[in-house]
Amino acid sequence: MQREIIDYYLDEEGDWVALLSCQHGQHVRHQPPFVNRPWVITQAGRDAMLGTKLNCVRCDRLELPDHLVLLQRTAECRPGDIPEELLGGLATKPGIWTRILVQEGCLVCRVREPFARPLIGTPLEEVLIPPEVLYSIEPHPPLCFYLEYYGPPHG
Ligand SMILES: [Zn+2]
Repeated sequence: MQREIIDYYLDEEGDWVALLSCQHGQHVRHQPPFVNRPWVITQAGRDAMLGTKLNCVRCDRLELPDHLVLLQRTAECRPGDIPEELLGGLATKPGIWTRILVQEGCLVCRVREPFARPLIGTPLEEVLIPPEVLYSIEPHPPLCFYLEYYGPPHG
């Protein structure tokens, strides 16, 4: 899915990596004549490309970015005390990944466009929801689950 460039950093080899709003990194090398990105060479060029969107296949593959840390864990939810917004539809925040851990039973997590796919959560299968998508939960009792939120270290 399309993600905005929010920052840049250099990898161990000194190549530029764009940090995307989902917290995934994507190389933006200038390697003429194969890849032409002369803008990446200068600070002004990089700044001008902030906010530009790149396609992030690691979001499509639901890979939790390695450097994220656990920010918060919710209390256990069972049918009857599931927050209304989880049933009705809730958007994940920029840079924040949501993980649903099912301890008992089953739920279907419906993630809307542009992601558009149902994710099944069971005690053997966790659900990972990328940032900036709308999702809702369809409980299949008996059910017990909790949520974890992951984000970049230091806020
Ligand atoms: Zn991504």
